[in-house]
Amino acid sequence: MIQDIAPHFIHNTYKPQELCRPTDPVFVFHQDRLLLMEGEEGLHLPSTKDLPFAGDLTYLFDHDGQSCYLARSLSITCQDPSTPMTEDMIYQKSTSSAPEEILLEGHTFLSFRLRDLRSDPRIRKDQYFAVTIAFHLYRWYEESHYCGRCGSPLSHDTKERAMVCPSCKARFYPRIMPAVIIGVIDPKTDRLLITRYADRPIPYDALVAGFTEIGETLEENVAREVMEETGLTVTNIRYYKSQPWGVVSDLLVGFYCDVTGSRQITLNKELKKAIWLSRDEIAGQPDDLSLTNEMMITFREGREPR
Ligand SMILES: [Zn+2]
Repeated sequence: MIQDIAPHFIHNTYKPQELCRPTDPVFVFHQDRLLLMEGEEGLHLPSTKDLPFAGDLTYLFDHDGQSCYLARSLSITCQDPSTPMTEDMIYQKSTSSAPEEILLEGHTFLSFRLRDLRSDPRIRKDQYFAVTIAFHLYRWYEESHYCGRCGSPLSHDTKERAMVCPSCKARFYPRIMPAVIIGVIDPKTDRLLITRYADRPIPYDALVAGFTEIGETLEENVAREVMEETGLTVTNIRYYKSQPWGVVSDLLVGFYCDVTGSRQITLNKELKKAIWLSRDEIAGQPDDLSLTNEMMITFREGREPR
């Protein structure tokens, strides 16, 4: 899965007092794109010395012993008069799938869409995982400029990763959205329920999934999603594994469960397909990053918790 990166590591402890060094890598996002540079050893993040105009940098995490930072608003904080950057200059073709070349201060940068980086062979798995964590934090910081209660500009807390309001003292912590991934098994026929979504550009098989509602346990979330999406009733709900999925700010929690009662599937409009597949019919997904894929493969190999 995306988080299985040993011997590489990412330590998320927040260190607001960490001093930024010239070689420390910097994440620069805009919408769904990330700025990278190309060197002799492939693609890499720019370092702080490549981005002297980046403005304030926010500490993110330690990746393999290197402190990584976020340039929160590079195009806005750029003050260099000889390079009057605007968002349009940097990202005017941001809908294109090809990396865009950007010349700044004598350096060549490449702007990549995150979804293209996922399958780029020049990016290691631990690097892509770091990108998704950084992107999750970037999105939260982007939405945390002002207090949601009184509208005042927010400040960084000095001890923990939180934004605080100097006026009304409200505190805002990073937002993580829990969701369940569900392997529905028919124990009578030894088959797994495989789905495809109607409204998403995902070309491969998936499992029933959905967000947790406020006031709901994860087990209730499982039973409700299966009922809503397929009309099936489930029992014997058992935990498998979890997965941070930062590109959409999620924490995914995987469960297996057994169908009980009628096997008649009643699709709702979210799904375009839901079918029962035997173990040897499971194909899996094109890469090994997702919890969904691991749960399908685990069932195929007969290793799911009973
Ligand atoms: Zn406030």
